[in-house]
Amino acid sequence: MSAQRKAGPASPHHVLVLGAGYAGMAAAIQLAARVGRRGDVRVTLVNAQERFTERLRLHMAATGQRLATMSIPELLAGTGARFVRGWVTAVDPDAKTVRIDDDQTLHYDTLVYGLGSVADTAAVPGVADHAYTLDGPQDAEALAARLARLGSGGTVVVGGSGLTGVESAAEIAERHPELSVVLLGRQEPGATMNPRARTYLRAALERLGVRVRGGVEVVKVSPGAVELAGGESVPADVVLWTSGTRVSPLAAAAGLTVDERGRVVTDATLRSVSHPDVYAVGDAAAIRQGYGVMHGTCQGGMPTGVHAAVSIVRALAGKRPKPFRFGYYHTPVSLGRHDAVVQFTRPDDSPRRVCLTGRTAAWYKETVTASPWPTYGRMKKMPASGAFWPRGGRFTRIRDAR
Ligand SMILES: Cc1cc2nc3c(=O)[nH]c(=O)nc-3n(C[C@H](O)[C@H](O)[C@H](O)COP(=O)(O)OP(=O)(O)OC[C@H]3O[C@@H](n4cnc5c(N)ncnc54)[C@H](O)[C@@H]3O)c2cc1C
Repeated sequence: MSAQRKAGPASPHHVLVLGAGYAGMAAAIQLAARVGRRGDVRVTLVNAQERFTERLRLHMAATGQRLATMSIPELLAGTGARFVRGWVTAVDPDAKTVRIDDDQTLHYDTLVYGLGSVADTAAVPGVADHAYTLDGPQDAEALAARLARLGSGGTVVVGGSGLTGVESAAEIAERHPELSVVLLGRQEPGATMNPRARTYLRAALERLGVRVRGGVEVVKVSPGAVELAGGESVPADVVLWTSGTRVSPLAAAAGLTVDERGRVVTDATLRSVSHPDVYAVGDAAAIRQGYGVMHGTCQGGMPTGVHAAVSIVRALAGKRPKPFRFGYYHTPVSLGRHDAVVQFTRPDDSPRRVCLTGRTAAWYKETVTASPWPTYGRMKKMPASGAFWPRGGRFTRIRDAR
């Protein structure tokens, strides 16, 4: 046991941030910059790894491309915030404690829950046993090693035709022209884009040699094959699963109110509706906006982290936290290293008529992908610099926001 709460009226208020993904990292650095050196507030960030995972680049890591090393403790250095490396195994909101690696208990006064999401390997039989995922760097590196060994003529099936599936299939096809890549899923790739963007995306996949099968339902993954509804069996030497996401069961087990997918249901200010001293951010949170519940993205996740941090600072100062508002603005999709499509969107994520394609889009996508880490660095010196994002205008105005 360690880091127990110090008793007494003068003990500092402890803000504990769980998860250093895009959202948790934004919350921690924003808090650290604003209050980390104050004697009356302590900030601790807990994460499974010391190295920040650039999840947006895991399809690149899966084809053997090396990612930059980004050290979370180094980023926090000088802010007064503490980093604890470990695996969260339980949250007790009544005792206000969190168990780490089953041998350490941390007490909190305010908790920021940002444990993210992973690919949903439970929905289809065989996926958990026979498919690769892009949940973390080890998964991506294991896939890279397998692809490198596969040899000419091998078949890779990417299950899930959403944007992660599209990016992965394109990257694998570009890096491994000796392999046959099949992209399978319920929807047509780029289904949420306007016709021009969708047509471009389809043509790019074709140019890269990706065989696309939209409108199919995978019912089972077996060693060497993917079974479709209707009885068809698609041969596969390697299966990469990108379809759907699921969240950690810890929030539900802790008794926090969660939605049907296990995400923490928040009020307009990002506090848990059942436990107001718990804020939830990023993919792990079910955050309602005027257009519906936000879906997991980095573009929306980072603002949730910043907003939670600002709300906590306001609450500590006796001020009322403000409602969170966020409107989507783009969907950038890489198609290998030299091509991409960027679909600009309305705040509710529906496609606008404007899109970028080709090298300009590839440059745009790379700029977006590279931006979070420098953004954290800037926030450390100027916390307010992280507080700019589209609020969504009429799309995010909800009557009961307060
Ligand atoms: C290949 C790929 C490409 C993507 N591309 C895009 C894109 O272009 N644009 C976009 O907006 N989104 C994209 N996404 C989605 C995006 O990555 C997620 O929406 C985003 O990572 C969510 O951020 P988060 O902070 O909520 O969670 P995560 O990034 O999942 O971070 C959660 C953190 O918590 C840690 N953690 C989890 N459980 C525990 C535990 N029990 N104990 C300790 N630590 C724990 C994890 O290790 C991780 O560090 C992509 C996803 C993938 C897989």
